[in-house]
Amino acid sequence: GVGGGFLVILGGGESGVGTALLGKAKGYEVFVSDKGKIKESYKNVLIHNEIEWEEGQHTESKILNADVVMKSPGIPGTVSLIDTIRKHNIPIVSEIEFASKFTAATIVGITGSNGKTTTATLTHHLLKDELNVGLAGNIGESFANQVLEKNFKNYVLEISSFQLDDIVDFKPRIAVITNITPDHLDRYNYQFENYIRAKFKIAKNQTADDYLIYDADDEVIVNHLKANPVQSTLLPFSLKKTIENGAYFKNNELIITIDNNKIIMPTKNLALEGKHNIKNAMAATTVAHLLKIRKQTIRESLENFQGVEHRLEQVLKINKVQYINDSKATNVNATYYALESMDAPTVWIVGGVDKGNDYRELFPFVNEKVKAIICLGVDNQKLMDTFGNMVDVIVETQYMSEAVKIAYKVAEAGDNVLLSPACASFDLFENYEDRGRQFKDAVRNL
Ligand code: ADP
Repeated sequence: GVGGGFLVILGGGESGVGTALLGKAKGYEVFVSDKGKIKESYKNVLIHNEIEWEEGQHTESKILNADVVMKSPGIPGTVSLIDTIRKHNIPIVSEIEFASKFTAATIVGITGSNGKTTTATLTHHLLKDELNVGLAGNIGESFANQVLEKNFKNYVLEISSFQLDDIVDFKPRIAVITNITPDHLDRYNYQFENYIRAKFKIAKNQTADDYLIYDADDEVIVNHLKANPVQSTLLPFSLKKTIENGAYFKNNELIITIDNNKIIMPTKNLALEGKHNIKNAMAATTVAHLLKIRKQTIRESLENFQGVEHRLEQVLKINKVQYINDSKATNVNATYYALESMDAPTVWIVGGVDKGNDYRELFPFVNEKVKAIICLGVDNQKLMDTFGNMVDVIVETQYMSEAVKIAYKVAEAGDNVLLSPACASFDLFENYEDRGRQFKDAVRNL
């Protein structure tokens, strides 16, 4: 319960340490247990705050004394320790759930397979001039730590399905589901349905006073909603059809209507590119309109939003060739939108750790726009086999610098060079940020 008892935190990363500090401040006895290594900087924080911790192991006898366990999102719900904890009837909560009990702030929760960070960052950007608002969740400083130290009146939270797995009472005032495509199925017994259900937990505790904003063009979402209605007031958005209550896009304008109160936003001057970003902009603008941000503020903020690093990020133009870093495209659907948004012949750098990818949906774009493919990763053979006879040039390498050099040789004035891997990055890189930075460094060194 709130305000005391023994809190065990599994995982000593950003959300674990944030929860530890918040828990301690709220009167819990706190123990942080990490099976791997805890970063030096986090260790120092724990030591400085006299919070007990262990690493390299989980001492079960101690953990099973917990009144409540916070499980970090990186730990699968299927590991045996979690099973044991459940058998002892100890409640398991996520950081989001735990921290939200200590704030009365209005919460905007954003989930989906792709576009979470972009939509959350853009939403925060639209709100921040007029509201006292924090941006947290999967981004930057933990939500728990912000609740403790910043005490914002509003939060925009980027929420992964892992954070939602353990939701009990958490309820955002406004929920957004950007889209649902298969991802992370290894964590959901390879059942797409389990993953869909996890995403919809964002609306589980909502009532008719709360809002669910979602992509009405996404059949997975629409079909799930039909079969499993929610209490929330629905505000769909669409690129394809007119929406009476919600948002749609027509003739380069976003039209957003909430209870007959309509705003119209021109999109000609948006810095963000690509159809997917029109969707993200519709979701974010609907939130801003709900929270009564002035039209003029929304318009200006939409126009000056520069996007987020590693998401279709324009790096440099060299010899009239545009280099684009989309390292965050770690699945096929994200790359689909990247290729779709290419407006010139494209040299495509792709590959990494294949997550059981089905590349077929990319075929039309590859035929139409891709002139050369550079495979960069451990699972290159599948890419070579899949795309081998669709393009004139297809090569493979294990080095980013070499990939970029080859791209430089192949590309001609007017072309794009796009890094959009459709794969995880853990084979050759620390993470997608590392991959994106290495790409940008290699481009700058040309
Ligand atoms: P997430 O936080 O959900 O991973 P990001 O905003 O970081 O999403 O974007 C991840 C990747 O997906 C990027 O390559 C980006 O270009 C692409 N993307 C962004 N928004 C969407 C969307 N609405 N639909 C599909 N892909 C998207």
